[in-house]
Amino acid sequence: MEEQIKDKDNETSLLKMELMGISRRSFLKFCAATAVMLGLESSYGPIFAEAATEAIKKKPVIWLQGQGCTGCSTSLLSSLNPGPAEILLDMISMRFNTTIMGSTGHVSAGVLEETFKEGNYLVVIEGSIPTADPRYCIVEGKGFEELVLEAAKNAEAVVAVGTCAAYGGLPKAAGITGAVGVSEIVKDKPVVNIPGCPMNPSWLMGTLLYYLSFQELPALDNIGRPLAYYGNNNIHETCPRVNYFQKGQFLTDWNDPATANWCLLLVGCKGPITNADCNRNWWNDGVNSCIRSGAPCAGCVQPQFYEGVAPLYAPLFVPEGGVVPTQPETTAGGGGLDVKSVILGVALAASPVVANKVVNSLKERKGEVKHG
Ligand code: SF4
Repeated sequence: MEEQIKDKDNETSLLKMELMGISRRSFLKFCAATAVMLGLESSYGPIFAEAATEAIKKKPVIWLQGQGCTGCSTSLLSSLNPGPAEILLDMISMRFNTTIMGSTGHVSAGVLEETFKEGNYLVVIEGSIPTADPRYCIVEGKGFEELVLEAAKNAEAVVAVGTCAAYGGLPKAAGITGAVGVSEIVKDKPVVNIPGCPMNPSWLMGTLLYYLSFQELPALDNIGRPLAYYGNNNIHETCPRVNYFQKGQFLTDWNDPATANWCLLLVGCKGPITNADCNRNWWNDGVNSCIRSGAPCAGCVQPQFYEGVAPLYAPLFVPEGGVVPTQPETTAGGGGLDVKSVILGVALAASPVVANKVVNSLKERKGEVKHG
């Protein structure tokens, strides 16, 4: 009998999705694809679907925004098929999100307090946390750091979305507000980082589906990101332009159509130091990625973004004397990579000819490049 009720509830939820324009087929397909992305068998798809239609809808989620541009909310709400927007707005119990909720003032504050008291919710943080002075970011009448700690107290887990929430991001680069990421503040709860400027919504949906299906966070890399989406996916190694890199063909003139598909290293590509699945799991519902559309990778998912990768359209280093190290560092892992060694390392891995070509091109450009 219990099984029948469960099946009926599932059917009702799937019917509801169909009414929202999400076909049962595309939703199940999304769940199966998400399972595969997370390193599981596609047969886990129905388990994820069940989590989405039953567990998620009962799990309260609080979404707090600190120092950020709302880009991650926008990324999520712009996604399609099946729309994480529809799922987040209509299927989970999103209790608080200042971008999408209609209520304000004491009504929204009351919802927040009530949820804190109930406990067993998930907290999503977007934007960084100022530590220099609470007045830099006041949310619901409190300094954001105080609010984040209060929210984390009775939460099951905290999800930091976007590079600002994960590592400080752009506000940290400005160096004024003492901006830090969530894991520098929240020490006693599981924290998962979903960086990106903005994050890809499927990274968040997959992580939520995994958590709600197995009541634990997926495997993380050494800087707190789901391994399946970040740690094992080096942008350079999966790049559609890597053949040009290996042949030593580098775009240097944006106006030359003959070289439009060549490697973007010399115009600032940070792919060799960046780990994310952008070249496998394309953006905008599988339409494109930065590099495929002609823009160099900005390294936006890395902890050193923005300060450590600026300027975006300039190569990260210009070697002194053109000396190529013989023992370059590996690109494995994710955080704290030595940019100079890695870029030379990947060049050497291609061939000494390519390495020398990269070094010579960078030396030629030395006079043109100003590092901020
Ligand atoms: Fe692709 Fe950038 Fe590597 Fe060139 S340097 S192959 S554009 S990731």
